Amino acid sequence: MTQLSDDVLELEMMAVVKDQPDIGFSYVKKTLSTSLAPGEVLIKVITASFCGTDYHIYSYDAWSKSRLKLPLTVGHEFSGEVIKIADDVTRVKVGDIISAETHITCGTCEFCLRGEGHICQNTQVIGVDRDGCFARYIKIPAKNCFVNDKHQNQLELSVQEPLGNAVHTMTHFPIENKDVVVLGCGPIGIMAVDVAKAYNARKVIAIEINDYRRQMAQDLGADHTINPLTEDVYEKVMAYTNQMGADVIGDFSGNKTAIETAFKYLKPGGGFAILGIPNEKIMVDVTNDIVFKGTSVYGVTGRRIYDTWYQVKDLIDNKRLHLDKIITHQFPLSQINEAAEIMGSKNCGKIVLFPGDEIDE
Ligand SMILES: [Zn+2]
Ligand SMILES: [Zn+2]
Repeated sequence: MTQLSDDVLELEMMAVVKDQPDIGFSYVKKTLSTSLAPGEVLIKVITASFCGTDYHIYSYDAWSKSRLKLPLTVGHEFSGEVIKIADDVTRVKVGDIISAETHITCGTCEFCLRGEGHICQNTQVIGVDRDGCFARYIKIPAKNCFVNDKHQNQLELSVQEPLGNAVHTMTHFPIENKDVVVLGCGPIGIMAVDVAKAYNARKVIAIEINDYRRQMAQDLGADHTINPLTEDVYEKVMAYTNQMGADVIGDFSGNKTAIETAFKYLKPGGGFAILGIPNEKIMVDVTNDIVFKGTSVYGVTGRRIYDTWYQVKDLIDNKRLHLDKIITHQFPLSQINEAAEIMGSKNCGKIVLFPGDEIDE
């Protein structure tokens, strides 16, 4: 257990920083004050994982330009050991191994008060709106800590957060014994295939253009995979579902054509949960594809705090998932740009990063 002595006022560390309005990350020395605001805890990061959001920031796309204030320490998916707590903190203690809920909600708005913090409109996202976890140390509110069992496999700790996205998306509508489509098999979509199998979907149909990721979906037990570049997605889904259509669709692609087609092969009375973030307007025939079909559409933002986390814990504790297959790459944090390039190639599942104690002069 790491107990930080009271006379340490500042910590030196290496951190991944977005400091240039251009492609890439810098790996630089930073100092972090150890003083804590009420409710805060100081964490020594054990693992972090690379998210699609981090890739948006790495490539500095239009969204990053509009949202970020540079310089910013990036990264939001992480686990770590609590090494200091503010005087008023009772929820966690020094030595706890935590994973972080990355949405810092206000706690006082209507949505927070009625237990729907995931749609709090005052949310701050770690590594986007404030300094993130691609660093040796980070300070976060204690209320954002999910305390893990001490013996849990380290590699699994940080990926519980994106796994929560997959679980939130795939469980909003009942999927047991249903025909389910997973649209887009990036790291979260690929987790969704695993989650759908774990919750006993009757049939899991995975749709993905990238060969590597389609193969991963197959390896995780997808009953059918479809390549939209070479196959007619609508015809295939209808054929695989006895011309009835899919009961439940989870979108992880944010792709305009993919989502528009999905409304056509969704079964009447079906549910469509959308996590992907399209960057253009989607055309939907509301009359025929929503109203007369009795379609339910659900927008997925983050995780239900903390319901989804307990679902994730339950799946992991009961060994229902195959995270060893989903985590395809591991890097020391110093190799962040290599990790970003692999993410950009799309020939990967989830990438886990390990911060070190070294300080470059
Ligand atoms: Zn993420
Ligand atoms: Zn709120």
